[in-house]
Amino acid sequence: MSPPKPLFSVVSLGCARTLVDTEKMVDLLQQGGFQLTAEGSGERITILNTCSFIQAAIDETEANIRQLSERKLAGHIKYLVVAGCYPSRFKEPDLQAKFPDVDLWITTKDEMQVQQKLSALVFEKKFRPASASVPYTKLTPSHFAYLKISEGCNNWCSFCTIPKIRGEHTSKTSEEVIKEANLQLSFGAKELIVIAEDTTAWGEDIYGKPSFPMLLKELAKVDVPWIRAMYIFPSRVDAELISVLRDEPKLCRYMDMPIQHVNSMLLEKMNRKHDKVFLTSILDKLFAEIPDFTWRTTFIVGFPGETEEHVQELMDFMSQYPITQLGCFPYSEERETRSARMADKVDPAIIQKRIRRIMKHQYELVTKRHEALIGKTFDMLYEGNGEGRTYREAPDVDGRILVKQSESLVSGNFYPVKITAVKGYDLLATLL
Ligand code: SF4
Repeated sequence: MSPPKPLFSVVSLGCARTLVDTEKMVDLLQQGGFQLTAEGSGERITILNTCSFIQAAIDETEANIRQLSERKLAGHIKYLVVAGCYPSRFKEPDLQAKFPDVDLWITTKDEMQVQQKLSALVFEKKFRPASASVPYTKLTPSHFAYLKISEGCNNWCSFCTIPKIRGEHTSKTSEEVIKEANLQLSFGAKELIVIAEDTTAWGEDIYGKPSFPMLLKELAKVDVPWIRAMYIFPSRVDAELISVLRDEPKLCRYMDMPIQHVNSMLLEKMNRKHDKVFLTSILDKLFAEIPDFTWRTTFIVGFPGETEEHVQELMDFMSQYPITQLGCFPYSEERETRSARMADKVDPAIIQKRIRRIMKHQYELVTKRHEALIGKTFDMLYEGNGEGRTYREAPDVDGRILVKQSESLVSGNFYPVKITAVKGYDLLATLL
């Protein structure tokens, strides 16, 4: 008789891209004789999948390692595995010296070998449970799924550690992406959210030129109601991408396009490969050509050399180009990056003041724009607990639609709703 399968739990930090990697590792381990269980329910192994692209993420990762090390020392778990960006960014001997209770470090490049590496650690030679075909384990609700279409990044923005951590950009083939999309459909996905470090670079390594619009057209043939494009790199937005978003009804009229700043001098220092004239020209086209176009973006505030005038330039831009969802982050100096060696650093207290000013401005702008939505109707994908989303909101990062009469609603179904009021960044709605 085969011995019982060792139980493992996972903790996934960071963004949706890490979550997709976590799902893949869970899948491989379940096929290799391990069994997933909830944290704190008798597991022998805990896998911490990490983020470490900025200092705040490193701090969070290290706090989690310390906490899990204590669980191990107290005898609650036997093996502690740390995977992902953190062990990819730093040298293993240094990490081992800092955290001696970690049993295994797995970099992003080695994640596909998680099964072999963990087996070598856990199984005593011949006593190994039989491998089994286990259904893929989703860590998100079944009605939406993240489709990761490529790994790594070649853009080398001057503030970013990701090209170093995640390596060169490598696309999945369109066949692989479509196969994954169909698998997610079989689990009940109503929305496919296309992600990568830079989705618009997709295909460059396969076809010799970025071919993201072609992939979106292929994906639109899949029988799913919504497809949402995220992590768009502005300099690669062209007429073809805009026309796909305009003409393909399954594509949400929504774009997640992190722009980081609008001042041309700062964009050049950030190595973003476009200037403000280009940025505003694509936004003009997106707003002119796509009815009810919405977008989310992020700003980095306090990049070296940023002045009060540059912040005012950002705020004027916000008034001119309505940003539906905005994330505003303080510049984080990362040792290995080019921007860490730049002059004219901005004082952290000044950065915080600037962020407060920008977000106050955004709140006022969004409140006015949201008020203009009162009385309008939308299809809402219901998430449960009285909350849902329209095409204007991505899960986890954007605002929500709050519905009162939700007792009979089924999570993962679509319902028509009418917006009735504004509540902070959220909207209240009634069912039609
Ligand atoms: S596009 Fe720039 S910010 Fe985004 S992952 Fe690549 S290098 Fe980093």
